[in-house]
Amino acid sequence: MRKPFIVANWKMHKNVEQSVAFLHKVLDRLPNGDHVDIGIAPQSFATYPMIEITQHTNLQIISQNAATKYDGAYTGEISVKDLKDMGINYVMLGHSERRRFFHESNQIVNQKVLAAANIGVTPIVCTNEDEESIVINNKRYYILRQLHNVLQGLSIEQLQKVILSFEPTSSIGEGHEMNLQLAERGCQLLRQQIRLFYGNDVANRIRILYGGSVNPENIAQVMDQPDVDGVLIGRASLDPEKFVQMANYQN
Ligand code: PEP
Repeated sequence: MRKPFIVANWKMHKNVEQSVAFLHKVLDRLPNGDHVDIGIAPQSFATYPMIEITQHTNLQIISQNAATKYDGAYTGEISVKDLKDMGINYVMLGHSERRRFFHESNQIVNQKVLAAANIGVTPIVCTNEDEESIVINNKRYYILRQLHNVLQGLSIEQLQKVILSFEPTSSIGEGHEMNLQLAERGCQLLRQQIRLFYGNDVANRIRILYGGSVNPENIAQVMDQPDVDGVLIGRASLDPEKFVQMANYQN
């Protein structure tokens, strides 16, 4: 049985004061962690106070990015080794905004994934749209080449722990809506490919999240899809009341 995972991606939206205030508003209203994992990915400088506040809770603090190297002369980078030392267990990698605005290629994302997995921080690897396509309502969506390129070099044991996320860029952000059929089809396609390349064991264990315009009204529906094991939420996760509602979604 794959444990659902609800992840908030705050992008560059909240400063330290706002991040901490948010935590104080939600912490005692989140589920206890027996049946669902909950995580927040704040801006990098807010991770430290948030880790301190959440250390005896089930809420995971997640890094939005990490470098390909553990240390050295790499101005502006975030070491996944230091994230681990701080108690951070997850790092998001390959988000479409990293690819689009910071030109991260599959090769760079792959190096980051290996750096994280090799040191014991679980990568949440985002796939967006690339080569192989799925067609829904006459519209074509591409995802599969990316998947293989970003996972290259991981052992079977590491693959079982990796978390994937299917985030169609056509459903992310302002002015877009979630397409339920696409959400399930994309996650299903990723799982089928994982089954084909790495076998049943990995395919049955790997958690696949969906991201793109999830909100309190549609979360139960998307979580009900057989291949969706969780969600990555942008805009709707910024509001503490909506976040609490989504963390306590009922199927
Ligand atoms: C995201 O960018 O990861 C995302 C899912 O955004 P939104 O929920 O705002 O569509």
